[in-house]
Amino acid sequence: MPNPEALTEEMWQAILTNDASYDGQFFYAVKTTGIFCRPSCKSRPPNKKNVGYFRTSQQAVSAKFRPCKRCKPTGQRLPDDEWVALVTEYIDTNYAEALSLEILAVICHGSPYHMHRTFKRVKGITPVEYIQQVRINQAKEKLISSNKPVGEVGVDVGLSNTPYFITLFKKKTGHTPASYRQLQQHNMKEAFENGKQHEFTTLLDDNHT
Ligand SMILES: [Zn+2]
Repeated sequence: MPNPEALTEEMWQAILTNDASYDGQFFYAVKTTGIFCRPSCKSRPPNKKNVGYFRTSQQAVSAKFRPCKRCKPTGQRLPDDEWVALVTEYIDTNYAEALSLEILAVICHGSPYHMHRTFKRVKGITPVEYIQQVRINQAKEKLISSNKPVGEVGVDVGLSNTPYFITLFKKKTGHTPASYRQLQQHNMKEAFENGKQHEFTTLLDDNHT
């Protein structure tokens, strides 16, 4: 899979000034989001260190970058489900960072309103609900697999406000993080002991036959 090449300073200036005279000469690709654009794209300029370029849009596509919904660098519209897949992937990898509908919309090149509606139509839940779902699922795992204090687990999943983390967790799971951890650890202990008992009775059965 070919990687984008390093930008020249001239290209970077063209991107910053949305200079349409460079359109068609190169396409810039943002590695963190997997989106590529025309130089004139009105989307917020990305961080330079995450940007490279391709000479043609076909090269960008074959390197698995997806066309920006806003500047349509292939001349075609990115289908909604692909755009939503891109937003979903971004949330899945960046759930620990600050995320909101506005931030996502800027990063994934669309308006907040359009993103909210499209996401909900494709996935059945809103982007904000999806962010919460990913964070709570991650928190569940971290509560069971570590002894980190609840507040730290919250920080790890992007919910650094501990009272808010506890309230949201309870709303989504019916338990506080602390009682969820206790319950799961209790269940696991029980399963372990039942397992041992089971092994023991199996052993006895084997001896009888
Ligand atoms: Zn664009």
